[in-house]
Amino acid sequence: MYVICSDLEGVFVPEVWINVAEKTGISILRKTTRDEPDYDKLMKWRIGILKEHGLKLKDIQDVIALIKPLEGANEFIDWIKHRSQLIVVSDTFAQFADPLMDQLDRPTLFCHELVIDGENNIVGYKIRQPDPKRKVVEALQSLKYKVIAFGDSYNDTSMLNQADVGILFRPPDNVIRDFPHLPVTQNYKELRQLLEKYI
Ligand SMILES: [Mg+2]
Repeated sequence: MYVICSDLEGVFVPEVWINVAEKTGISILRKTTRDEPDYDKLMKWRIGILKEHGLKLKDIQDVIALIKPLEGANEFIDWIKHRSQLIVVSDTFAQFADPLMDQLDRPTLFCHELVIDGENNIVGYKIRQPDPKRKVVEALQSLKYKVIAFGDSYNDTSMLNQADVGILFRPPDNVIRDFPHLPVTQNYKELRQLLEKYI
């Protein structure tokens, strides 16, 4: 029996930090896991930039509330839900994800948590566990499920490699180059055609 593990940003919703960069005018915040594979380094750098500009959790949440799912995302999630089980496995944080999950009709989400101080400043974050995306796949496989996983970026590749079927969705060229064994899909139609072989 198959379970689907999907990334969130770049697959069902746009990149949150790119939107934050645009809305706040702090263009250097556009850097994502597509550019910096070391997630810890990237997050510490982001938190430093927010502090420098005096931006609090509420400021970022206000921006995230304006982000809409990618066109066709809801229909695609609905299609999966009628054929299999979907778990969204993301490197986002519970405090950021909530307004997005609402718009996606609340699929199951496994993600991380921000650490907020008494003045609503983002002061750190708690990663659920090391190599969290791969661990989700391993856990499901230990329950005797087969896992199909898809995602767009570097932070998905350990999940895709661990999965029984790993698929890249609209990835940047450097990810395609570094992981040539993973099949590449460019839109929901292509992804659906690939998934239809299994579910
Ligand atoms: Mg992504």
